[in-house]
Amino acid sequence: MSHAPAAAPHASHQDEFNPFLSMAQLFDTAADHLGLDKGLRDVLRTPDREMTVAIPVVMDDGRIEVFTGYRVQHNFSRGPCKGGIRYAPDVNLDEVRALAAWMTWKCAVVDVPFGGGKGGVVCDPRKLSKGELERITRRYTAAIMDILGPDRDVPAPDVNTNEQTMAWLMDTYSMHVRKTTTAIVTGKPIALGGSRGRTEATGRGVMLIAREGLKKLGMKPQDARVVVQGSGNVGGIGAMLMHREGYKIVAMSDQYGAIQNDAGLDVPAVLAHIKKTGRILGFAGAREVEGGQKILETPCDVLVPAAVENQITTGNAQRIDTKLIVEGANGPCTAAASKILDDRGIMVVPDILANAGGVTVSYFEWVQDRMGYFWSEQRVNNSLEQVMVKSFEDVSTVAAKYKVSMRIAAYILSIDRVATVYRLRGVFA
Ligand code: GLU
Repeated sequence: MSHAPAAAPHASHQDEFNPFLSMAQLFDTAADHLGLDKGLRDVLRTPDREMTVAIPVVMDDGRIEVFTGYRVQHNFSRGPCKGGIRYAPDVNLDEVRALAAWMTWKCAVVDVPFGGGKGGVVCDPRKLSKGELERITRRYTAAIMDILGPDRDVPAPDVNTNEQTMAWLMDTYSMHVRKTTTAIVTGKPIALGGSRGRTEATGRGVMLIAREGLKKLGMKPQDARVVVQGSGNVGGIGAMLMHREGYKIVAMSDQYGAIQNDAGLDVPAVLAHIKKTGRILGFAGAREVEGGQKILETPCDVLVPAAVENQITTGNAQRIDTKLIVEGANGPCTAAASKILDDRGIMVVPDILANAGGVTVSYFEWVQDRMGYFWSEQRVNNSLEQVMVKSFEDVSTVAAKYKVSMRIAAYILSIDRVATVYRLRGVFA
């Protein structure tokens, strides 16, 4: 069973769109700045463990279908691996590898005591019933459960998975180990040991980072026009919280299309419309515009790509018309596009900082599960704000010290933190 990325027309094109190569390129640039020796470079570049599993499932019509699942554990020097599980038809090992590595850097940027991991199941959730999704989740969990555990690897939601998926995962794991083990996943329903504020945490982090970025640019939220690509857990909630803070959200999209209103969208009404109809198109208070990557070229002050990777590329980076990019998604700009944006003087707050609100509150959730004591939403939100603001400052300080972009600075900061721990622990033999 091979799930390599589909062959691209020519090598350079393929390289740009291979997220693992994009990540490796950024890693190398940061490692050069740190003067990291070859041995440590090789250790930190290489995923610690990769697992590919077959997931046989009895479908609703009685047929057996075999799905493919992955779990990649990139690095666990700083603590248990942490990272989401995504369900998508085009998930592949290189993508999961890149996402796992990004989790290692992300956890280090916000200084939570986790390493990085990521999982994926090749399936199209839009074509699956709830029962089929449940059976896929349970069988996938059983297949990878030897490498999971509250002190080993703690999954969370990602693209097309949610708190229900995490509840099934938690239950399957608990049934196998014969005790309820809430700390095996984060992003669970609050009734099952989830944290208050976790669902909103990534969007809240995006809002906080946009605020810090604008401060640096000397702009006020009230004067900022915002474009958001994606209206799910990150884009939708991020847009809603920014709208509440007085930003004007002028365009939003989902996987089916995009809408624009230069006077500002009524974001709560947009989200209510999506909830009701399943898509953004057809919303009465806006005009329909071209969706997909095109929405990223809408003139604005803050651009929030909050969908999937490889959206800002060498093909459109010259046409991006904004002052600040806050990366809600993982890997929305390719490494090559990133250089173009830097040369054009656009400030980019990279994914591993901008969307780290989710994993930060995942850490709070894991702590609460282990304490058996649950925090108020106020405490969660205040603690999240402190972490995001401090991490933004830490990255800004490194950027000024090394005279590099925020993206390279975030890599420098996190690689240095992981390398320090690795040196202290030494090579296990
Ligand atoms: N999937 C989210 C991310 O990419 C959250 C991961 C987590 O909370 O473990 O950051």
